[in-house]
Amino acid sequence: MFRTVKLKLPYDQSLLETGKRFREACQAVLDYGFSEHTFNKNRLDRATYRNIRKDIPTLPSALVQTARDTASEALKQTKLQKEIKRKSLTIRYDRRTFRFYPDSFTISLTTVAGRLVFPVAKSPLIDKYRGEYTNAQVFIDAKHGKMSVMIQVELPDKEVEKEVNEEAKAIGIDRGVKNIAVLSNNMFFNSGQLRSVKGRYRYNRSKLQHAGTRSAHRRLRELSGRERRFVQNTNHVISRQIVNLPYNVIALEYLESAGMRRKNNGKRFNTMLGSWSPYQLELFVEYKAVEMGKMIIYVNPKYTSQKCSKCRYTDRNNRKGSIFHCLRCNFELHADLNASRNIGILGISEYFRLMSTSQSLRHPDSNKLPALAGSS
Ligand SMILES: [Zn+2]
Repeated sequence: MFRTVKLKLPYDQSLLETGKRFREACQAVLDYGFSEHTFNKNRLDRATYRNIRKDIPTLPSALVQTARDTASEALKQTKLQKEIKRKSLTIRYDRRTFRFYPDSFTISLTTVAGRLVFPVAKSPLIDKYRGEYTNAQVFIDAKHGKMSVMIQVELPDKEVEKEVNEEAKAIGIDRGVKNIAVLSNNMFFNSGQLRSVKGRYRYNRSKLQHAGTRSAHRRLRELSGRERRFVQNTNHVISRQIVNLPYNVIALEYLESAGMRRKNNGKRFNTMLGSWSPYQLELFVEYKAVEMGKMIIYVNPKYTSQKCSKCRYTDRNNRKGSIFHCLRCNFELHADLNASRNIGILGISEYFRLMSTSQSLRHPDSNKLPALAGSS
């Protein structure tokens, strides 16, 4: 599990100079990659390394290499479709080019003036996230004369579990047709009752439609209103129960179709709600959670039903109908429950990613949180 610690650095001329040279090296690789239509690291390296070393002799070789990697990734990201002009003065560091000393609040960085040691601003995050410091990025804001470093820390898994229990209590929710909602704390909301009632309405409706008289049509309208209110009421009850549980982070899968249907409004939207309870449930959970200052996190649903929530082994054959059986560790669980646990795990890691990258995120009680949950 990775965490990021962002710390202030003193403004330094050698670092500024390093940033500028790093940018030049990046640009040289970007230009070559764009004109030769490649983002292959080996090819880029063979073609540009020697020239860059010659043209920018002060930039140490290890930084030339990370500049090449940075450029290669940027080229890959744009799929070589447009020319990139690098503006930022961000320098990428790896294990060879930086070393962080948490006890003395210092960091040593490779620069154009050799290896230099800089003091970093003290932060509670330093003690909170101790582990292996795998890579870092130095951000230079030349306009405002500011510098900072973002250090990535790899934490041992145990620490993360402890931290999760102490700080954020998350619950994962798997939504489906048979089970309206399955929660990672073993709660099941079954659609059995809902479906039998809906089934009855449907039966009545088809009989009335068949009759075709005016009173039958009026009766039909009333019925659809009643059915809609029934589904709505059920969703209100379930969502209330969910948000009242003692968890401050609620994780749901992000459903592409839900995002599309969100855009609908007005009459068509309303008629859809009656038959589409999973989305309505999401809507109700979301606004009730927001009211209570809880955080909603949407996670990528990919593999949540194939992955083992115990050992993380992913295989399509792990799932057989409603049973999840891990082919690697033999862990067995109700398939929806296993999915909901995966959703909860993803939610927690997304929560911490948000906590560490966004400065406006302080505490799950903060009013700012719901807007950042990616729901709009
Ligand atoms: Zn397993």
